[in-house]
Amino acid sequence: MTCERCNGLMVREQICDLQGRSSSLCVDGYRCLLCGDLVDAMILDNRQRSLNGVETFNRTRPRIPQVVTA
Ligand SMILES: [Zn+2]
Repeated sequence: MTCERCNGLMVREQICDLQGRSSSLCVDGYRCLLCGDLVDAMILDNRQRSLNGVETFNRTRPRIPQVVTA
């Protein structure tokens, strides 16, 4: 995963209570090591939808986890 702003390396991290907007919620997200840009799962989801449109969203079903039984 690379940053959209600076192409830097992004690391996975728990983002908690962004500016008090979402009470006491912690979400999985990514933080850029270079510019410090924060991207949470909801932002990624919205970006994907606006970029690819409804068609792709319905086809890939990103919200449903794949369970692999060996
Ligand atoms: Zn960056």
